[in-house]
Amino acid sequence: MKIDFAKLQYQYQLYKTEIDAAIQNVLDKSNYIMGEEVRQLEDKLEEFSGAKHAITCGSGTDALLLAMMALGIRAGDEVITTPFTFIATAETIAFLGAKPVFVDIDEKTYNIDPEKIEEKITSKTKVIMPVSLYGQPSDMDAIQAIADKYDLKVIIDGAQSFGSTYKGKTDSCLGDISTTSFFPAKPLGCFGDGGVVFTNNDVLAEKIKSLRVHGQSKRYHHKYIGMGGRMDTLQCAVVNVKLKYYEKDLKLRQEVAQKYTEALKAKDFILPFVDNRTTSVWAQYSVRIQNRDEVQSKLKEQGIPTAVHYPIALHLQECFSYLGYSKGDFPIAEQVSSEIMSLPMNPYLSDEEIEYIAKQI
Ligand SMILES: *Cc1c(COP(=O)(O)O)cnc(C)c1O
Repeated sequence: MKIDFAKLQYQYQLYKTEIDAAIQNVLDKSNYIMGEEVRQLEDKLEEFSGAKHAITCGSGTDALLLAMMALGIRAGDEVITTPFTFIATAETIAFLGAKPVFVDIDEKTYNIDPEKIEEKITSKTKVIMPVSLYGQPSDMDAIQAIADKYDLKVIIDGAQSFGSTYKGKTDSCLGDISTTSFFPAKPLGCFGDGGVVFTNNDVLAEKIKSLRVHGQSKRYHHKYIGMGGRMDTLQCAVVNVKLKYYEKDLKLRQEVAQKYTEALKAKDFILPFVDNRTTSVWAQYSVRIQNRDEVQSKLKEQGIPTAVHYPIALHLQECFSYLGYSKGDFPIAEQVSSEIMSLPMNPYLSDEEIEYIAKQI
């Protein structure tokens, strides 16, 4: 058997007629930048997420930049985040000249451990940036309580978690600003790069919309130092179609995750944990396995692709050596990054495929 990790081609074939028509429609109008499909998508994203404002942008990375720029984050500021995430989370903090300050993760959810945040707060701290890793929101009540106590802002990196919930609310409407990504491999992907900034705050929303277009207030009048951070009309047209089926996709992802857990529960490795206040969108189904490298290569021989999200905790990345962290600083993040392994995950994984994967492991 040969297993496809994300089944992107399969998904395209499923919705091909509608997606092709949507793309053709944009080509016919040639409204490539800020065409009406952009606002249409933003309306639908607001409806889906419950956030008051959805502002599309160039990528999940741009979304993080726009979020921090809107809050005025700059050189000398500190942003508290997790070391167990994709590089973009901390890279964007550093890109703005601010300092990423890492806090170790919770052993079960792999998200930032709220109990370890307070000791890292200084007079320079401006933002707490939790990441909803693998599709599951962090402990948002605890994080928001700390933010309120110290008058800090909360930006959620929800690149992997669009549609997930915490106590019944999507993580797009929590915090001061929340972001997501439409990178093709995310649960809701476009056919290139795309992203969204969400907020319930009208003032921030206006500023983010301006920052997205070079900080302009009206054409050729620039109120802020901004960026070229728009999402292409073509990509919005693609997501407009895919969003119609996203609720269904999420149900299927849930089912796949449940079937995995059922099929793997007798094994002697650690399965994903979902907190009972949250729902995950299962961006990844990741298990912890001691002899990971060996297992990965054996599975590959059996036609089963796996991936590691993420093999090196960010405090140990070369680009962050200037921060002065060393091995042992965040033991849980380090341990998990040495054991974690993601199995093929997509809404269309068949029972047969799941059984085959479970058997081979
Ligand atoms: C994918 C991802 C990003 C970046 O999104 P892009 O759209 O690829 O720029 C940021 N943070 C996390 C946690 C991600 O998984």
